Amino acid sequence: MSVIKFINENKKEYIRISNKIWQYAELSQKEVKSARLQMDVLSTKGFKIKKSRDCQNAFIAEYGNGKPVIGLLGEYDALPGLGQEKKPFKKPIKGKESGHGCGHNLLGTGAMFAAVAVKEAIKEGRFSGTIRYYGCPAEETITGKIIMVKEGLFNDVDICLTWHPDCYNSINLGGTQAMNSFKLIFKGIASHAAGDPFNGRSALDAVELTDIGSNYLREHIIKDASLHYVITKGGIMPNIVPDLAEVWYFVRAPGREAVEEIYERVLNIARGAALMTDTSLEIKLITGCYNFLNNDVLNKMLWDIMEKIELEKFTQKDKDFAREMASNFNRGQREEALYISHLDDGSYKYLENRYLCDTMIPPYGAGINYPGSTDLGDVSWIVPAAKFITACFPLGVSPHSWQVTASSGMHIGHAGMILAAKILALSCIRLFRNRNIINAAKDEFKQKTKKKKYKSPIGSLY
Ligand SMILES: [Zn+2]
Repeated sequence: MSVIKFINENKKEYIRISNKIWQYAELSQKEVKSARLQMDVLSTKGFKIKKSRDCQNAFIAEYGNGKPVIGLLGEYDALPGLGQEKKPFKKPIKGKESGHGCGHNLLGTGAMFAAVAVKEAIKEGRFSGTIRYYGCPAEETITGKIIMVKEGLFNDVDICLTWHPDCYNSINLGGTQAMNSFKLIFKGIASHAAGDPFNGRSALDAVELTDIGSNYLREHIIKDASLHYVITKGGIMPNIVPDLAEVWYFVRAPGREAVEEIYERVLNIARGAALMTDTSLEIKLITGCYNFLNNDVLNKMLWDIMEKIELEKFTQKDKDFAREMASNFNRGQREEALYISHLDDGSYKYLENRYLCDTMIPPYGAGINYPGSTDLGDVSWIVPAAKFITACFPLGVSPHSWQVTASSGMHIGHAGMILAAKILALSCIRLFRNRNIINAAKDEFKQKTKKKKYKSPIGSLY
């Protein structure tokens, strides 16, 4: 049976699985039920399951024998504050704080579905090799795959493929940003803020001076880098000089070297702030990641499959849902989404009377990093990797929003997930049958990484 036929005939089962994970909506590192469900399903389909030693709720499911080993990566963590009913207008679910605002219920299930379809083809003896599904937790905190890479779970895989829900069907040829996430914790001395301020040493002052310093620093770092912070502890009452304050930073840049350089400069600012305020400083690195390294050979193969594939059809109900959702967007939101995606000029025309992406959009964004970060970056520095996007929410929807939660739980998201499963399954078959593509992808990978040896950004953490 062809993988397309297998996916068409079995889609209901996987839509049910994705809906269950949508309902669980478990946050990073708490994906116990979601991972359990995937492991149970894959185990009944004949996959051998191996749980990760170091990363909770991470696992590998494998079928077949010997080389090549093709890995499909799935995620299943949700986001806080984005619980939402399957409605085109904002309606949080009572008592449900978290939601799949990045569509990872679709991401994980779609990749798993493809792995099962490929397993059927191996079982029929159509080719030999090993299909491996990676259950990857904690993507939103950018920790899951970093720990899995450090554990060595990607050391013996030949190629890794994955996808992500989006507004479009396409391939983003740009990378993602390398990043460090860290907390700066200042400790001072509490005292009466009015009666005895001279005996106090304000930890909050140190945080504020650090932030002021960092805001000045922005002018003197490369344009492609960015800094964000939130003050996570800032004292208890105005009449007590705060003896504890904490600020949480992200530093992002196009590569690890730039991240590490800017990180060190922010730390120096914090050290200076501690000196100015006579407080002590503790630096707590939480996580870090690499930029995503594209592989042209794999992207070319993906696009060759994608431009010929028959798209899943959106129903009239989907189209009405998308139109209603768009009626509540900010002014210009749909156009800005096109702009951010670096799609060609004139593509605004694409939005005329169209609320869902119902075509395949040619690859875009070469040489331009997406401003966000993902732990997939680290995998791409260990093994040749590629990713693509399919339309799982209406045009103009912002990632990490209630609109994504709503769309990921209904047919719009399911259609994108089925399409992704088909593209992944066809890609695996192409790779199993054409070792020359695997070899060419590996040659390109070696060329791109020969001067840069991967070093885990989390050091001895975890
Ligand atoms: Zn995501």
